Amino acid sequence: MSPSPASFEPAPNRAVRGRDDACPGALRLHRADDGALARVRVPGGLLAADQAHALADAATELGDGQLETTSRGNVQLRGLAQGCGAELAERLSAAGLLPSLSHDRVRNIVASPLAGLDGGPGLQGWLDELDTLLQRSERARALSGRFLFALDDGRGDTAGLDADLTLIARPDGGALLRPGRAAVAARVEDGPRAALRAAEAFLAVADGAWRVREADPDGSRLFAALGLTPGPLPELPGTRPAVGRHPGALVVGLRFGRAGAEQWHRLADAAHDGLRVTPWRSVVLPGVAAVAIPGLRTDPASPWEGATACTGAPGCAKSLADVRADAAAGLDATTGSGGLPVHWSGCERRCGHPSGQWVDVLATGPDTYRISQQSGSTTEVTNHQMAAAVADARRTT
Ligand code: SF4
Repeated sequence: MSPSPASFEPAPNRAVRGRDDACPGALRLHRADDGALARVRVPGGLLAADQAHALADAATELGDGQLETTSRGNVQLRGLAQGCGAELAERLSAAGLLPSLSHDRVRNIVASPLAGLDGGPGLQGWLDELDTLLQRSERARALSGRFLFALDDGRGDTAGLDADLTLIARPDGGALLRPGRAAVAARVEDGPRAALRAAEAFLAVADGAWRVREADPDGSRLFAALGLTPGPLPELPGTRPAVGRHPGALVVGLRFGRAGAEQWHRLADAAHDGLRVTPWRSVVLPGVAAVAIPGLRTDPASPWEGATACTGAPGCAKSLADVRADAAAGLDATTGSGGLPVHWSGCERRCGHPSGQWVDVLATGPDTYRISQQSGSTTEVTNHQMAAAVADARRTT
């Protein structure tokens, strides 16, 4: 698979702009229907076991007892009580999860979750350097909370995430920098430093845009600003890690990216060498061969593999349905492996939808859904009919 961006994006989901970037953070909580929501940035998805325990404790003592992973490998706490912001910030700071008050929302960095574990290059050096450079950059404070850096170890997993700036490790030890959805990339000497310079150059041309693809669709302005000469993008395998056992690690799937605090504590207890939250609603446990935690999955042939859903009702007032309950019932009633990724949404914003090819399941009422396929065909179904129709669409799109 080439690291091309999403080719299937339902028309109503194209860039929606308000006056402000309201992306939540650890300090800037979002008021949801089920209480306040905090998004804790976890660069590269890397958590030490004690940090994971601290998040679970915060979820229990300040929130609704659930932890949510996001499509950028971050962690959200929901159902937070009004006025708990100061205590949450104190807890996160003590756990090393809030190293910068001024740059909290811009530390959006995803990294290939199996990097350095199964024979490919590690990304820790790039990750640490980029995170440090970002936090030291006064200009970077102006980046949108949606601006995303992707570090790819060459397998093409995070390179397919439609990031704003992607660094790709090359077999010769070098690095390629790809801006947004550009069809080209340029060799760079110091990848993290080049990525930061590119982010700062983007701010100079952004003119209100939040994403590189909006201000510089072919990357030419950023390449010119950095004095880089781009060349063709290499073909990359494009494999994201399925749940289950891999050389050097175990990937554990979370239902719609959610885990209860007790499940999360057990994941942290099982970790030999930290945890890696993936952008695909799973957690990597390096050096672990097996775990058995009720409600979490390690079977790659499950229909839950590749299944995601937005928050839906009752957490989001915009939702026409309790999409997670409906989707879970449908997935539990399905046999065999899933096929294409599928995403359920309670409204046309389609929060958290995947990149690349996927099946779109949109609530059109409290008991009705529209299923859209890559080919453009759509099917209107009742909730009762949905499981079979979704299974067909995942196999045939
Ligand atoms: S897609 Fe719509 S219903 Fe779902 S969380 Fe986003 S705004 Fe809410």
